[in-house]
Amino acid sequence: MIIVMKTEASKESVKKLREQLKQKGIIVNVWEGHKYCVLGLLGDTSSINPSQIEANQEVEKVLHVQEPYKKANRLFHPEETIVSVRDRLIGGDKLAIIAGPCSVESEEQIIGIAEKIKKSGANFLRGGAFKPRTSPYSFQGLKEEGLEILKAAREKTGLPIVTEIMSPNLVERFVEDVDVIQVGARNMQNFDLLKELGKTKKPILLKRGLSATIEELLMSAEYIMAGGNENVILCERGIRTFETYTRNTLDLSAVPVIKKLSHLPVIIDPSHAGGMWWLVEPLAKAAIAVGADGLMIEVHNDPVNAKSDGAQSLKPERFDSLMETLRGVAEAVDKEL
Ligand code: PEP
Ligand code: MN
Repeated sequence: MIIVMKTEASKESVKKLREQLKQKGIIVNVWEGHKYCVLGLLGDTSSINPSQIEANQEVEKVLHVQEPYKKANRLFHPEETIVSVRDRLIGGDKLAIIAGPCSVESEEQIIGIAEKIKKSGANFLRGGAFKPRTSPYSFQGLKEEGLEILKAAREKTGLPIVTEIMSPNLVERFVEDVDVIQVGARNMQNFDLLKELGKTKKPILLKRGLSATIEELLMSAEYIMAGGNENVILCERGIRTFETYTRNTLDLSAVPVIKKLSHLPVIIDPSHAGGMWWLVEPLAKAAIAVGADGLMIEVHNDPVNAKSDGAQSLKPERFDSLMETLRGVAEAVDKEL
């Protein structure tokens, strides 16, 4: 429920109404715009009688929110969210470029790649230590050792690290070690995991599930935010459709749709969307053109021998030329790269 106060409503009356609502166990978010003051109500609003609230002379109107998500909703939070990660930001005018291999394979590999992508202009390093593989016989990741390797790469290059979590039992360890915790497509609706992450303040990169709707993605963000963690970044990484030529179908329209519905930053992962290295460049260009706040791109020093996702990985040299190409696209949409 949303309460719009009259333009002339006094601070005193807003405070009084807020207190009344709080006493009913409702969380009240106040947004003070240039013209109106808006109260966003969270929690069980069934005990509130809208006509009683409207009887208050300083209330302009009471609106019922149809959307099931609230904290992620732009209605409650009209201005863009910009997430801070160490000395960097995700959202706003500067594009976040997260690059690195699908899996962490060795310290030499990660440090080598991290140094190269940094030179090309990437501002975050990715690498999976705990891998969600379709087959239990495929490489499952270096696990804790992988986290140590990522930390060493951060130490060496200064790049903040982004890596995927799969189990709620590891939240504490990830909070300690990692700069952005990635929730992969397969865990987008692992609600116990989302609730645990909601208790932290760590930036969370939430990837859209393989067959999830935009609303389901926003509901998952809501799980994290409802717990008190509003540092959520959304990621479109392609969805399942009847098309089988590409690994997934990149839903480019998800970016403007999410921007309309939510204030959260949204990035695109062209690597998992297309599933082939030569599709990364055209999809990355389109992602920036359509208004994404950043990209997540898989880069591997030796894609042919990669332990996972080699076919969609760019070699560092190709990543470098991609970044050059993307600069022009970024400029065209007033973004910095
Ligand atoms: C990944 O980023 O390596 C990954 C497994 O991605 P997704 O969850 O989008 O499949
Ligand atoms: Mn991958």
